[in-house]
Amino acid sequence: MATPSTDLFAGIDIGTGGVRVVILDEAGDLVAGHAEPIATVTDAGSCTVEQDPSLWWTATVTGLQKSLVSCPRGELRALAISGTSGTIVPVDGAGEALRPAVLYRDARADAAAERLNQAAAAWTQASGVRFQSSSGLAKVLWLVDTEPEVVSRTRVFAHAADVIVARLTGEVGLTDWSHALKTGYDLVAGAWPSFLDAVGIPVAKLPRVLPPGATLGRVTAAAGATTSVPAGVPVIAGMTDGCMAQVAAGAVQPGDWNTSLGTTLVLKGVTRTRLVDPRGRVYSHRLPSGAWLPGAASNTGGACLDEFPRAALPALDARALAETPTGRVVYPLTLRGERFPFLAPQARGFGEAVADPVERRFAARLEGVAFVERLGYAVLEDLGASGGGVIGSTGGGSRSRAWLQVRADVLNRTLRRPVLEGAAAGAAMLAAAGVTGRDLADVARTMVRIGCVVEPRSGVRSAYDEAYARFVGDCRARGYLDSPARSR
Ligand code: ADP
Repeated sequence: MATPSTDLFAGIDIGTGGVRVVILDEAGDLVAGHAEPIATVTDAGSCTVEQDPSLWWTATVTGLQKSLVSCPRGELRALAISGTSGTIVPVDGAGEALRPAVLYRDARADAAAERLNQAAAAWTQASGVRFQSSSGLAKVLWLVDTEPEVVSRTRVFAHAADVIVARLTGEVGLTDWSHALKTGYDLVAGAWPSFLDAVGIPVAKLPRVLPPGATLGRVTAAAGATTSVPAGVPVIAGMTDGCMAQVAAGAVQPGDWNTSLGTTLVLKGVTRTRLVDPRGRVYSHRLPSGAWLPGAASNTGGACLDEFPRAALPALDARALAETPTGRVVYPLTLRGERFPFLAPQARGFGEAVADPVERRFAARLEGVAFVERLGYAVLEDLGASGGGVIGSTGGGSRSRAWLQVRADVLNRTLRRPVLEGAAAGAAMLAAAGVTGRDLADVARTMVRIGCVVEPRSGVRSAYDEAYARFVGDCRARGYLDSPARSR
């Protein structure tokens, strides 16, 4: 437990469902935390997904107050903030929102994204970044097109984290290069790209970009009085929620990889040089060290278990290993379309043996997601990633011990699950690195605590190699896979 001399670090995550605050001590132990829900306004007819940014602030205030009041003694040394990637809100010179925030999931910027892709064809080709309606830059262009009156009063197009930074420090118009990535910031050139003027985006209204880990400002006396954070505490530039979760998982050095198995399956790792995927399946963030953080997401994942009642999962888990290897080869896609390991908008799941008893069908789905994961890592290695080491494992699906075992078996890799996961914990670690000047990898070594390590079972290796080869063959036969992704 924290002592009076303990250094404490706060992480704040502005998520879709709410704001989470965590306070970690220098050893990485959770000393306090609070999650405060916030409402989202959605309208399926118009594809609108918006939030009131004043709720981000009130939830942050509640989260900080409740965390700090229950915090054992210690000195809060720094804090950092993460948010959803692609969320945009125009703010005035005082940092006040001029309209509701347009969330990353809002799909009204579809046509704007296409216009960007056409106007910046050469740039998207070279950078490997393709704009989508979820991109912050597409939302900025949509606002320029549809709400010129708001844009004329806009001082800066802000990300969710930037809004909270402004409230805490009084500094309006600052961001980090991670939240800025989907707003079009060029991570290679270290600048906003030159095509913005040509499409009518006012570059002067985009934020000034600093490296994650830099000091953006200090908590003002007024913000301190509201939040209970001592005035003068440094606010450190954060990263997007996905990147911060990667830091919390401890996968921050070249060669490190982490799989987040939540509703979807997300593979993220660290490379010395940028992976360029001509098919646009993989895009890369960048760590403070300059190393690249490539990531890619499959539409498979925990969602394939949704047809089994949540309450039945522990019992099915307990019986799953007895069914493995099932000999089945399932692609567990619940909806149409896949985006990684292959891009196939028409792809359908396959291989389900509907006559199988429920235990076997459950186990075959666990295996199916593991086959997709193995193919995903093979594709990343084909693109030049180095791997072969331990893989971090986070997300709701990593709570299943059986799934961890099946995945370790199919991948033939050791899996490692951290005790603490989530963007807020990663933000607290980045705050620690930023304020102390220590390397993030060094901080992660001290602060990331390992919960469990799962080794592959040797007795099932050849059965899974054979099943995986059939899985790859089936993907190829359906025309989903034409790249040389190896049947490793
Ligand atoms: P999200 O990605 O939406 O944030 P989570 O990380 O909470 O979601 O993960 C949700 C997924 O975790 C569910 O789809 C479910 O399949 C999986 N999951 C949760 N608990 C278990 C369990 N005991 N066994 C297997 N899967 C589980």
